Amino acid sequence: MRFSALFIPTLRDDPSDAEIASHRLMVRAGMIRRVAAGIYNYLPLGWRAVQKVERVVREEMANAGAQEIRMPAAQPAELWQETGRWEQYGKELLRFRDRHQREFCLGPTHEEVITDLVRDEVRSYKELPLNLFQIQTKFRDEIRPRFGLMRGREFIMKDGYSFDADVPSAEATYETMRAAYHRIFSRLGFTYRAVEADSGQIGGNLSHEFMVLTDSGEDEVVFCNNCDYAANAEKAVASVAAPEPVDTPEMITVDTPALHTVEEVAGHLNIAPERLIKTLIFALPEHNGKPGRLVAALVRGDRTLNEVKLANVLGVTELTLATDEQILTGTGGPVGFSGPVGLQGIQRVIDPMVAALTDAVTGANAADQHHQHVLPGRDFEVAKTADITTAEAGDGCVRCEGGSLQVQRGTEVGHIFMLGDKYSAGMEATFLDQNGKKKPFVMGCYGIGISRIVAASAEQHHDDKGLCWPLPVAPFEVALLALNMKSEPLKGAAESLYKQLIRAGIDVLYDDRPLRVGAKITDGELLGTPFLVMLGERGLAEGVCEIRERVTGETTEVPLEDAVTVLIAKIRESPHG
Ligand code: ATP
Ligand code: MG
Repeated sequence: MRFSALFIPTLRDDPSDAEIASHRLMVRAGMIRRVAAGIYNYLPLGWRAVQKVERVVREEMANAGAQEIRMPAAQPAELWQETGRWEQYGKELLRFRDRHQREFCLGPTHEEVITDLVRDEVRSYKELPLNLFQIQTKFRDEIRPRFGLMRGREFIMKDGYSFDADVPSAEATYETMRAAYHRIFSRLGFTYRAVEADSGQIGGNLSHEFMVLTDSGEDEVVFCNNCDYAANAEKAVASVAAPEPVDTPEMITVDTPALHTVEEVAGHLNIAPERLIKTLIFALPEHNGKPGRLVAALVRGDRTLNEVKLANVLGVTELTLATDEQILTGTGGPVGFSGPVGLQGIQRVIDPMVAALTDAVTGANAADQHHQHVLPGRDFEVAKTADITTAEAGDGCVRCEGGSLQVQRGTEVGHIFMLGDKYSAGMEATFLDQNGKKKPFVMGCYGIGISRIVAASAEQHHDDKGLCWPLPVAPFEVALLALNMKSEPLKGAAESLYKQLIRAGIDVLYDDRPLRVGAKITDGELLGTPFLVMLGERGLAEGVCEIRERVTGETTEVPLEDAVTVLIAKIRESPHG
């Protein structure tokens, strides 16, 4: 396509609302324009990148046996009321009424619609498995839309749903989809990790998030430097070495006047913070007729309590720290001096790292006093432990011998989840099995953030001059720059090369604008096309053009008549071509 005819409103300056590189550069490269918070126009270059990503996703979905359909954006409230999500989903669900006062929402996801479709149409095990997907616009009224396409309110998602007759078959489908996701993210040229994600009630390793590693990512990814163990921060577990047997002296009580924090107590007693037991007291509200109660969470002094893990252990969705008064009545001591020794009537959740301590210090549930030489199991009961701390860089791997954990920031680009019969049982979506018995479908769901992928790719592939698209995402594969449009012979040669490139099936952007050399190169680099072909008067006189690779800056001089062959070879050889 000709640059002169395309709508590519590039900007010299950074937009003021862009905090991260991908957002800044996609606006500057004329790919997207903001309409409202988290709502964007996709301009020709932006839309081409979206379509490139969609193509890879469609190919791999077809290979995995999934069929493309299209569901509506507007969904009736009744379906959401059936699953209870009309009430549960909260403010991210944009609700509205039609002219007849019937309630609707804009779909943030499509479990209800698809389950309704399949329950009406599929009757027998003979029609299973069934794997359906769509690429569609989602709406979520995000509390903090930001980072351009990364966290939009209106965004493009590939969402897929599978229906199987039993759990083994559903697990096989899940594995097929997991493999397809790996192919998609490798083909798109990402540095990414598939991490074990919290699968809530269902358990097992039946939820994976695909995380692109980026410094600006909103999530934390923990992974092993030695094996393929990877999990998100809510799930990652560190291995805890069994303690060396030691002769722990008898427990004593020591004065720690007005010393509250781990650092203060450790400093005063001249011990490492990791020998302290932090005791955090939470107040659980009354629930389902059960009265409110206090819970003590025990973590090692140098570690951070992970509230998501603790909430999962306790089976609650929210945690509130106990008030000073609740702590005083519940433990007998003031805040800052709580400890497990002699603690009565309060449930204790003990992290394995605490259980592994052999000579610890902890609050004595009395003002200005701590216990020293505490041995878990001897001085307080350790019936069972639960991992409630956040894994940290350098921790041992739980999966392999000798591996150590690393922590990096990441952006979630895909999420696959075994749903089991959560929706099918709830919505009475059943089929008849071989014995003529009614059974709920066993479902899985599989999401990919198409528009977020484009942003994440820009985030992973840019430099100080602009974008550096990997081939499979790049709006164009080759940019042809005619460096002086005033020269008729040069224009003629460029036109001819342009036509040859098109005939060869290459996606080419021909910069035919009557601009200075510098301006064309600056734009060429900003747009990030993988290969820049530059044709100038000096080169033409010698019958050559220059091919510059955007990422490496490597430039080769090539005879004009070989340019197409060389480019085809370079595109083929490119790691993601
Ligand atoms: P997040 O934790 O980032 O909000 P999510 O867990 O809500 O994501 P899913 O419901 O699993 O996301 O949706 C599937 C995919 O859709 C995600 O993996 C992500 O790539 C994409 N996605 C989710 N929310 C947004 C958004 N607000 N803007 C752009 N893409 C999104
Ligand atoms: Mg979300």
